[in-house]
Amino acid sequence: MELTDIQKQIQQTFLDFADKKVKPLAAKIDEEKKFPAELFKQTGELGFFGMRYPENAGGTGSDVVSYSLAVMELARGSLSLAAACTMQSLMGTYFLYRFGDKEIKGNYFSEALKGNKIGGICMTEPNAGSDLMAIKTTAKVTSDGFILNGQKTWVTSAPVADFFTVLARTDNNEQLSIFFVPSNLKGVLVGKSIEKMGVRGSLTSEVGFTDVKLPKNYLLGGIGEGTKCLREILAEIRIMTAALAIGVATAAYEEALEYAKTRVQFGKPIGKFQAIQMKFAEMAVQLETAKLYVLNAATLSDKNLPRQKEAMIAKLYASECAVNICDQASRVLASYGYAAEYNLERYLRDSRFTLIGGGTSEILKVNIAKEIGL
Ligand SMILES: Cc1cc2nc3c(=O)[nH]c(=O)nc-3n(C[C@H](O)[C@H](O)[C@H](O)COP(=O)(O)OP(=O)(O)OC[C@H]3O[C@@H](n4cnc5c(N)ncnc54)[C@H](O)[C@@H]3O)c2cc1C
Repeated sequence: MELTDIQKQIQQTFLDFADKKVKPLAAKIDEEKKFPAELFKQTGELGFFGMRYPENAGGTGSDVVSYSLAVMELARGSLSLAAACTMQSLMGTYFLYRFGDKEIKGNYFSEALKGNKIGGICMTEPNAGSDLMAIKTTAKVTSDGFILNGQKTWVTSAPVADFFTVLARTDNNEQLSIFFVPSNLKGVLVGKSIEKMGVRGSLTSEVGFTDVKLPKNYLLGGIGEGTKCLREILAEIRIMTAALAIGVATAAYEEALEYAKTRVQFGKPIGKFQAIQMKFAEMAVQLETAKLYVLNAATLSDKNLPRQKEAMIAKLYASECAVNICDQASRVLASYGYAAEYNLERYLRDSRFTLIGGGTSEILKVNIAKEIGL
């Protein structure tokens, strides 16, 4: 696909940032399991958090294609950093942009675009993962606002978050509503970070709400409109997750390729053996195809055309390929692909996150089947 000059420039900016600033720290971020605060701030300075918002809202008004290219490069540098940054740039801030009043936009949204404040989204609960309609968190309507009670889990950036966007049920309403909740309100309790297999620098934890008093203006959108509003950005969430998958897969592919050219066995570089060449041909096909799917879904999104099915296909294909590519690439390095000293084992661990975020493969298949009329 032919990119415009602006899209190429954006891609180059994040490519340089990933190579010069992110990659050198990626192993340390994973090892220390610490939120990469400094790199997060620098990503904000590059305008990443405002890419999907118009200039009059403090953003850069970039298209989805440019955003996807930037995500791919960030994820090529470090999936931990990219996971935290994409949360901030999309789900963590979108509903503040859409429905926040002057106070919310001025004190939180604008600051989040600069990376000065951090936001998270609380949808998942211990008994409501893929099935969001099973959410039990309640927002009781009072004369001057709402009282929030419930338990959320797997909240990205929660240990460092300044505010949350929370999906809850108001009274007996069948539909869900969205609330803005600063993390320093009385009754908000953030649990310790969940120990994870991968993306270990993107901190994730439980968040509990006990009798948290919310003023009326903290309802984002109308009562019961949460599910509808969530659907507005669902395709973009999936395109973004697919771009994350492509980023980590590209890192694995590139490092394995370099290794195949230099590692000598039986008197020649292992890249000269057909068995290794077949691996690279297959990886290259998957990577290129996944990129085309993502850029196709992103282009449809930019043209405001229907893209739900295309976004699901892109996410399903890219994430499954990413896990496969990281696995195949690590085999190229054999024992060194298994060693913590090399990056391949981290890529393999990290890539599995992309199978879950934005909908599991099983859920995507169920929904793709629905889209094609079954
Ligand atoms: C690193 C990480 C970060 C995350 N960040 C956030 C966050 O910031 N905010 C947030 O709210 N959540 C977050 N999540 C949670 C994530 O969105 C959920 O894990 C995801 O929705 C799946 O839910 P679950 O893990 O409860 O699995 P379940 O829904 O319990 O699924 C278990 C298995 O059953 C399958 N399954 C379920 N229903 C069906 C069906 N109808 N048909 C076929 N198969 C089915 C699934 O595909 C899966 O294989 C994060 C998760 C991870 C791993």
